[in-house]
Amino acid sequence: MYLPWFFLVAGRREACWGQPAEEKFQTMPHVITRHCAGTCDTACAQACPIDCIHGPIADATLRSVPAAERGVRFPGVQLYIDPDECIDCGCCVAVCPVSAIHMDCDVPLELRDDIEANARFFGRRGR
Ligand code: SF4
Ligand code: SF4
Repeated sequence: MYLPWFFLVAGRREACWGQPAEEKFQTMPHVITRHCAGTCDTACAQACPIDCIHGPIADATLRSVPAAERGVRFPGVQLYIDPDECIDCGCCVAVCPVSAIHMDCDVPLELRDDIEANARFFGRRGR
């Protein structure tokens, strides 16, 4: 059954309703945390319907290296979500093998800096 994006996003955002008022009404996007580094298999980029997930190394290059060697060949390399393009659909979350992707309001406290890191990668200040 067809559901407009608005209702899908609103439903997913129910998880944020316990957040402080200044956070729960934000229309922030999803965020990739540092836990991507070392795995970086680009599954999320392939699942994203609007192609807003990118990193410093081409996806094809990352995929050409066996998963077990990726962390050594590309230390610290991860993908990021463009905060101005993400439509908050959540398609990327389920495909991540290391649960590195969260809604902005659901990013664990110790990883909150990663929200700004995503924006910074695309040349913008974090919000
Ligand atoms: S939430 Fe949707 S639009 Fe945003 S990065 Fe993930 S797949 Fe792409
Ligand atoms: S699916 Fe997860 S581990 Fe793979 S590139 Fe995306 S965020 Fe990184």
